[in-house]
This record gives sequence, structure tokens and C-alpha cells, in this order.
Amino acid sequence: MEQTFIRIKNNKGVYRDIDIEYASEKQVDEFLITLSKGQVAAMLKKALNVKESVNKHLECKYCDGVNPVHWRGDKKEPLVCGGCGAEWEDAKILVED
Ligand SMILES: [Zn+2]
Repeated sequence: MEQTFIRIKNNKGVYRDIDIEYASEKQVDEFLITLSKGQVAAMLKKALNVKESVNKHLECKYCDGVNPVHWRGDKKEPLVCGGCGAEWEDAKILVED
């Protein structure tokens, strides 16, 4: 596994690179003091190779409609796509926003 180092500065102003895998809480505390939360988050995200979370929604695969409605407006009827009328259960797909 690839090693990732973070650079920390101790209270004497000395910089040191430590392996993020083995960084102690105390070291991370020091690290947090020298960087803003946003910088830390960005570095951790990069280090841990965390992908940006992507929001997804359901969409009709035929017409890209996003508003299912009950067939003939009857709540007892199954949902159909509000755009093209396809059966929602069959037509809905999960897509990225
Ligand atoms: Zn549709």
C-alpha cells in the first residue's frame, strides 16, 4: 500500500512528516492546529482516496422524467412516469444528479 505522509509542526516550530497510517492522536492534534479544518479534510480525502459523494435520484429511463404519478390519478393504481406514462417500477433508474 502506498504510504501517505502528513507534515506536522510541533510547538517548537519544527516540521516533521509522519505516516498518516500511524499518526497518533496527539500528532493529529498538532496537525489540526497548523491547518484549517478545510485543508485537513481535503488532505485526508486525498490520502484516503475518498471519492466525492455523489447525490443520486430516480429518473425515467425513457424520457428522463423525475415525477412519478399514480395512473389515472388513482392512488390505488401503480405509479407511472409523469412524463411518458411508462410503469415507474420498470422505468425508474438511479442516476447522478
Ligand atoms: Zn418517462
